Amino acid sequence: MPPEIILDRYVKENFPKSYSGKLDVERVGSPSLRTFLYGLQIETNDALQMENANASGGVVHPPFHFDYLLATVTNAHAIPHERFWFIALTLPLIKSVTDVSRHLSRSSAVLQLLHLDSGTLRPDILWSYLGHIQLLFLTAHEYTHLIHEHSAGREPSGVWTELVPQTTCGSIDSQVEELDADGYATYLVLAFLLRSPWRLRQLILLGQENMPAVDCDELIMSCFFLSLMAFFSTLWPESIKLPLDRLTHPPVPVRIDYVIHVAKMWCGQFGHVKQSWFTSPRLQDLFHAAASEVDRTNRQGWDEQIALLSSADGDQYRNMLFEESNKMRRRE
Ligand SMILES: [Zn+2]
Repeated sequence: MPPEIILDRYVKENFPKSYSGKLDVERVGSPSLRTFLYGLQIETNDALQMENANASGGVVHPPFHFDYLLATVTNAHAIPHERFWFIALTLPLIKSVTDVSRHLSRSSAVLQLLHLDSGTLRPDILWSYLGHIQLLFLTAHEYTHLIHEHSAGREPSGVWTELVPQTTCGSIDSQVEELDADGYATYLVLAFLLRSPWRLRQLILLGQENMPAVDCDELIMSCFFLSLMAFFSTLWPESIKLPLDRLTHPPVPVRIDYVIHVAKMWCGQFGHVKQSWFTSPRLQDLFHAAASEVDRTNRQGWDEQIALLSSADGDQYRNMLFEESNKMRRRE
């Protein structure tokens, strides 16, 4: 039985309230979105097929399948079905990613930070590049939950769900797994952006292929952070309703910090982008450009989170999470 039918049946049986099944891309109204969805699915499934037990640290598993769910809610899932391991994103999530990336690609602050000339660059090229980075990261995050066989954040049904109601109880263990998924996704996405043939193709599209390699690396790294920070900034809640140690996912500022921490480590290991590039003012400029482009009604929620995390308890919590996540990463 093809994976599409298995996923459709699985979702209808297990999430009847949230989803009406697998998305039939043919029925998406916008022709450009339809083309984008088909393209992304083919690329992602090709990449996942090339992945094998070697790449996943010896974990034997059924084939992967990447697909979309018909839904009214923004969400992403990893589903370890016995026949296929599914990575499924809902259509509203894809739309949120494309909206955020579109805003970024039209922002003069973003173009200035990237040293890109709005006169010569077609904004749709940057739009597509930034959107791809976010979706690559999301897919790699779900992939990590599956191949690292995370267990604390798994629902009784065996499924991982990224966007859960604020009142859902998690644990420090589930938060450590989330940071592990973010960290490994950072490794995979940076390797793809900076060291695969995709690098040159994108640099040509952006009209930057003749720049020195060091400058190209820095441009790619800035795009990576802008995309990720903008995506994370769409996730922060109005306020944190549970104690820090009862959350399912760490608060967004902690996740951004951890991605920076891992990206810096990756660069040290593979010799791309000097450690001196990672200054607080540079990362703050990237964050402000990324966050200001998001339609944000919950500024207060952000300030509340920063205040909480800046306290002595917040600091201790963050250090403990980083330490546990680093331990988990070293065991891989
Ligand atoms: Zn996750």
